[in-house]
Amino acid sequence: MKAHSHSLPSFCTYLNKGFDFRAHAQRMSDARHDPDISPSSVFLALFHAFVFRLPSLQQLDAELGHTFLPQWIGAQRAFRDDTLRYSLCGFDLQPLEAMLVDVNRRLKRGKAFDQDRVQGHLVAALDGIEVLSSFSRCCDSCLERRVERKNQAGQKICETQYYHRAVGCQMVHSPVKSFLAVEWLRPGEGEDTAALRLLSRLPDLYGSRFFDILLLDALYAQTPFLELARKFGWDLVITLKQNNRDLYQSAVRLFASRLPDATFTEVCDHKTYRVQIWDTAGLPFTLDNPEPVRVVRSEEVLERNRYREGKRASHSTDYEWLWISTLPTKVFPPATVRQLGHSRWKNENNGWMDLTQHWALKHGFVHACRHRPKQLDASGQRVQVPNRGLPAVTLILLIAFALSSNFLLRHSKLVRLYDLSAVAVARQLYSWISKAPPSIRAPD
Ligand SMILES: [Zn+2]
Repeated sequence: MKAHSHSLPSFCTYLNKGFDFRAHAQRMSDARHDPDISPSSVFLALFHAFVFRLPSLQQLDAELGHTFLPQWIGAQRAFRDDTLRYSLCGFDLQPLEAMLVDVNRRLKRGKAFDQDRVQGHLVAALDGIEVLSSFSRCCDSCLERRVERKNQAGQKICETQYYHRAVGCQMVHSPVKSFLAVEWLRPGEGEDTAALRLLSRLPDLYGSRFFDILLLDALYAQTPFLELARKFGWDLVITLKQNNRDLYQSAVRLFASRLPDATFTEVCDHKTYRVQIWDTAGLPFTLDNPEPVRVVRSEEVLERNRYREGKRASHSTDYEWLWISTLPTKVFPPATVRQLGHSRWKNENNGWMDLTQHWALKHGFVHACRHRPKQLDASGQRVQVPNRGLPAVTLILLIAFALSSNFLLRHSKLVRLYDLSAVAVARQLYSWISKAPPSIRAPD
């Protein structure tokens, strides 16, 4: 009889054959001295927690105590969440990032990013996300802001809030939407600074031609981003908003006096978009940098039917979008620039947002850990290692996300045959750790 359900051993074979998973797991290291539970087992515990979509570290702690998970991940004995925390706080980020890069390179070689190319081009997007915030717990690398809120007596008070923010670069055109890299904002710096650091690093990690088009938020409509993209050979589509006042206003003025360059209707799901679109090849970017840039404007009326008190009524909403782009008009007509601009917007819904809502990214369990391994500093003093827990956990999550998405969307025949959801597959894999002891172990 053929299997109707995914097994953990077959998932493991997929990982080892396609991604050299076992070898990568063996390369993990942390700052502990001669630990019982290897860094590889710690990595695998968290990796499986994300693949199984366990809701919390407490849940992982319970699984490690009651199931065959410790055996499966090569641990000599059961262990608890304190071991996970202590290891992850001093985790070495380099092997994790090297693994993420290798996974993405293999995905590309395996044609995971070939589907839905835009005019033959590969598209990535950059976005920021806030990962956790707290009024009470903070660490050395926390960002701070003053926030007004009401106390229990209902009085307005102003308090310092601590938080972490990162920018991530993600492939967005294909069904497999893997993250290429992530960069954390340092105290006192803006998201644009972290984004420039991330983009400057990408060609070293992947080569400059890993993708062709980069989609950016309005915040990044700045000369340094245009220069960087030109240097690395990336084309850009950037949302244009009021923060680029001069360019925004001159585009709006120019288009107001012209008929649209294209008009069309787009139907998707139960929504109908009536679109009017304008395109110009050259408006000065800023006063300081008057190089001409292409601007596309889309005026959209979204019509949908709503049911109110049992009666169907049509309801319409107006939208306006503007984008700056370096794409040539002949190959990328304005409707294609619009489509690209909207896929960046989708990224906000399907990228980080998906990870935070469905992959439990927001648990701050390694945040502000005071119990951390020690190492010698330059003057020979024994000091605690810097807390790398949050970046380590995030990289493990991104690795799990890429490998699970590719398994689900491209590898599994059962998903296509039985139309299984991502959560259903996660449950099938999860159920294996409660079955009879597996005959093979994941890592060795
Ligand atoms: Zn912090």
